[in-house]
Amino acid sequence: MSMKTDIKLIDDKGVRIDGRKPDQLRPIKIEAGVLKRADGSAYLEWGKNKVLAAVYGPREAHPRHLQDSAKAIVQCRYNMAPFSVGDRKRPGPDRRSVEISKIISEALESVILTELFPRSSIDVFIEVLQANAGTRCAGLTAASVALADAGIPMKDLVVGCAAGKVEGTVVLDLGKEEDNFGQADVPLAIIPRTGEIVLLQMDGDMTREELFNAIDMAKDASLRIYELQKEALRRRYAIVAEEEKEEIASMEEIKEEE
Ligand code: UDP
Repeated sequence: MSMKTDIKLIDDKGVRIDGRKPDQLRPIKIEAGVLKRADGSAYLEWGKNKVLAAVYGPREAHPRHLQDSAKAIVQCRYNMAPFSVGDRKRPGPDRRSVEISKIISEALESVILTELFPRSSIDVFIEVLQANAGTRCAGLTAASVALADAGIPMKDLVVGCAAGKVEGTVVLDLGKEEDNFGQADVPLAIIPRTGEIVLLQMDGDMTREELFNAIDMAKDASLRIYELQKEALRRRYAIVAEEEKEEIASMEEIKEEE
């Protein structure tokens, strides 16, 4: 953030370095139910970010001292693959991934009906396969779809989306160059239906007014991302319904043969 550079991040016409307008998202693709062994899963591509999310649970929390007799605990592990970034990343947890795991757990916990599952744990694994800025938002957005795919009861889905400031302009969803050389990056998590903010961080600085603009921009975008999440889940349920139909048809065939 705010390193000096000669690169022009926004041209005179307001076009960003990757060709986007200030309030334009990078392209997003979401697929639900991609892993057979997990209770729920999702794969998400967001610009050049590639992220997998897997959910297990609710299941008995271990070790037992972690159990809460009033509600389920939500444990998220965010991990970057060694090959996900330009320079090989040292495998294993570091301060950054511990922080991101914590803030994503808290954002997810705010929508999950944890009180329905006392003494349980809901475990969320986020694997970043390719990173290009905005992976915490991508991971959170994927995890939310994976939770729904696992059938975990939730108030709503939650969406992660960042906004920030680049060369004096408030912009949505910073790319890598903008993240490195821009003035501010503000990752947010939003409950789209209510507009409630369940995560707000800021790297760099901006005025109060710019911050409010950035939040509004991210809120608008969260509604667009929400539609993509729901479409991914609808496609997933359509496939499940189709598979069930085929299974019933083949069982009836067997019965007829008998
Ligand atoms: N990054 C990296 N190596 C690291 C951590 C991050 O190259 O060990 C890159 C990666 O592209 C990441 C970006 O820096 O997406 C921005 O990282 P930040 O900590 O701001 O989190 P993010 O924007 O991914 O949520």
